[in-house]
Amino acid sequence: MRVLLVNASAPAYNLGLAKAERYWMAQHLDVDCARDVPPLLLYRYPVVWISAIFSWHVPKLVSLAKVALDGGAKVEVGGPGTFGVRDLIQRATGLTPRATPDPRFERQPGNYSHVFWSRGCPAKNCSLGYPKDGALPICSVPEMEGWRFTLYRDANPAPIILDNNLSALPRHHQEHIVERTSACNYPEVDCNSGFEPRSMRPETIALWRQLPLKAWRYAYDELAERKAVLRVLDMLDAAGIPRRASRIYCLAGNEAVEACEQRVREIHEWGAMPIVQRRRPLDWIGGPLPTLHDWTEQKLIDFQRWGNRLAGGMPFSEYRRGRKDRHAVGTLLSAPAEAPEGTG
Ligand code: SF4
Repeated sequence: MRVLLVNASAPAYNLGLAKAERYWMAQHLDVDCARDVPPLLLYRYPVVWISAIFSWHVPKLVSLAKVALDGGAKVEVGGPGTFGVRDLIQRATGLTPRATPDPRFERQPGNYSHVFWSRGCPAKNCSLGYPKDGALPICSVPEMEGWRFTLYRDANPAPIILDNNLSALPRHHQEHIVERTSACNYPEVDCNSGFEPRSMRPETIALWRQLPLKAWRYAYDELAERKAVLRVLDMLDAAGIPRRASRIYCLAGNEAVEACEQRVREIHEWGAMPIVQRRRPLDWIGGPLPTLHDWTEQKLIDFQRWGNRLAGGMPFSEYRRGRKDRHAVGTLLSAPAEAPEGTG
């Protein structure tokens, strides 16, 4: 029997599908990985699994699933991108998506380029994952993976660490990750989702600086985090780590324009690098982007370009969109290369 694994979010790396590939191979089955479902070749594949990392790739996942179902395959769909649109997928295909880590292969041994050493996030003071007053979460980690950490001590090290909140992990587990990763002598290690400012301590920095970190990633997603972010900068200064090593995730669109601009400008003033990401609700599948406060979708697109390229030189009010930067509202800029899930 052959199995077809389809990454609807390609070219983004899909760790779940990489594990699924090994899961099937361990059962001595042939596995093909693809970006599409080839209708004329479906006779080869009695089983087709399709995964989306981002919700805006779900329309593609749905259309691929329909092709595979029409071809008579046994189809499964899943991935974190399906989390906020499970009902939509079920209505469109009759399939129940597996949005949370799949126990069949979540712990599948193997050498991968990315790794989770833990799942979950207990940061209940983070309004993105734990919003107040009935608002919808922007970060799906607590609901998908739980507010208690699940620790994986037997994970295989990899140079890209995806854990959602490394600094809040129990100290013994942080030491275990650093020790195991360090033993691999990678030239560079990237903690992609990063550290959470409120749980950073001087000893966190002393521990993690033993690895050749690509950057110190943490988030300044709302003004309420300002004090904690300044404290992290002080701790990094005291450790002799240059300000330019800080790459600070900065969410745009969850607060009013003025507050978002303040955060971006401050990150520049502090000598760090902002990584501006615009707010995309967990159920957004493309088309016009719903916005809050005084934002429009075009303003968010402009702000992201300004914040990531030009914020050091001019206020946002002086930003003028260039010809090549004009995008029709409802289309995508390139998907964020960093932090597909929580951002510390
Ligand atoms: S954004 Fe980060 S800190 Fe907040 S809930 Fe998500 S993973 Fe946790």
